[in-house]
Amino acid sequence: MARSDWEAVIGLEVHAQLLTDSKIFCGCSTAFGAPPNSQTCPVCLGLPGSLPVLNERVVEFGVRLGLALNCTIREHSVFARKNYFYPDLPKGYQISQHELPLCENGHLVIDTPEGEKKVGIIRAHLEEDAGKNLHDPEGGPSRVDLNRAGVPLMEIVSAPDIRSSDEAVEYLKNLRSILVYIGVNDGNLEEGSLRCDANVSVRKRGETGFRTRVEIKNLNSFRFLKQAIDFEIERQIRVWEEGGQVVQETRLFDAQAGVTRSMRSKEEAQDYRYFPEPDLPPLRVDEALVARVRESLPELPREKQARFVREYQLSAYDASVLVADKAVADYYEQAVAAYGKNPKTVANWVINEVLRLIKENPEGIRATRAEPERLAALLRLLDEGRINAGSAKAILEEVHRTGEEPEAVMRARGLEQVSDVGVIEEAVARVIAANPAELEKYRAGKKAVFGFFMGQVMRELKGQGDPKLVSEALRRALDS
Ligand code: ADP
Ligand code: MG
Ligand code: ZN
Repeated sequence: MARSDWEAVIGLEVHAQLLTDSKIFCGCSTAFGAPPNSQTCPVCLGLPGSLPVLNERVVEFGVRLGLALNCTIREHSVFARKNYFYPDLPKGYQISQHELPLCENGHLVIDTPEGEKKVGIIRAHLEEDAGKNLHDPEGGPSRVDLNRAGVPLMEIVSAPDIRSSDEAVEYLKNLRSILVYIGVNDGNLEEGSLRCDANVSVRKRGETGFRTRVEIKNLNSFRFLKQAIDFEIERQIRVWEEGGQVVQETRLFDAQAGVTRSMRSKEEAQDYRYFPEPDLPPLRVDEALVARVRESLPELPREKQARFVREYQLSAYDASVLVADKAVADYYEQAVAAYGKNPKTVANWVINEVLRLIKENPEGIRATRAEPERLAALLRLLDEGRINAGSAKAILEEVHRTGEEPEAVMRARGLEQVSDVGVIEEAVARVIAANPAELEKYRAGKKAVFGFFMGQVMRELKGQGDPKLVSEALRRALDS
């Protein structure tokens, strides 16, 4: 049976660390990189007799996230204990939300080759993070760092609406962009402040029910997410086609080998024995808080994209590239304002040149010293015919590194375009005098020789001649 007879069914579970200064149930700092266990207290160490107190800022962030994902915010939600044993979990249970989560029934819109698509968000709930086991590569004893224990997380569970690895990547990119826009998460997949697990199953096209799924863990980049899902789809199709059964299990993605491997089967899966957390009252979120948070939500990526298309006449694609990172969108708008015209030209320069210069830089657009005003100044030099496009790119590269003014770079590197007709005519005369044989050919009707002359004159002018003026001067001289 052909591959195209099958379709994938995918749902993502994403954990996002909330950017609060203190932990979810105690006042300990959430700052990253402190010495192990220096940011702990009886509550997050799970010492007997200590009691959790809910951080109000966490609730506000949770509501913010829920609203940005079009969720219903539950007036009463309930914390629950999820019981399991692991060295990084000092209490022997994680405080999470189970039956009554803070946010439910939302959705997120993504672009697919077939157009816009709504991916459902089943739920988004609050929970605490666990600590981190530190293993000694030399084989010494393992240790536990509990600085991360009690850091607030939001788990965002999508509906099984995703149908390909590309859609999964698109979903995660959009989700990350929203989280960063609303300031609740730093969007860092590599460092684990945003973590993604993928649930994957396959079914024959036309089937209405779902088949058995597996859950893949350890997907800490967009590339790994795509690779793991593609591998898993192929593996499951093969299993079904060979007459086997896909078993429900948790699998780990091995990035080195590009494969998923079984980690634990359903039989080995824990029963978490959830029950309501007796040390915390039900969480009550009143309408006033929801209204206040809704009021404070910034323009979200898709709204911004639509506005860019409308206001600046950009293509939907260009607009999506610009809005993916809010800092880039802000940079673009500042550059348009500074330049005062032609937003499409500015978009081309930002997308093709500025973004290329900062491509590998983790600082993103903040890393460039070619601030919006400098880009605008560069474009004005281009408009005035004082530089050509090639020089403009060279100048931008230097401005990006040094933060110097484009005009200063132009002068220092002698990149000013020669627009003095007298100078150009002298160069033309010199070139023609030095190439009598070519002149002969041209006059005999071999018009292609014009290109040769053009190149020679540009060389004479060190590449800085205004191409239009050079071409006009040449024609005058050659055709006279
Ligand atoms: P559980 O309670 O066991 O975690 P959920 O119903 O909460 O299961 O689903 C967890 C995730 O798995 C969700 O993202 C959901 O969309 C996804 N999912 C559920 N069933 C399937 C399936 N058959 N194939 C792929 N993904 C699925
Ligand atoms: Mg689940
Ligand atoms: Zn603490």
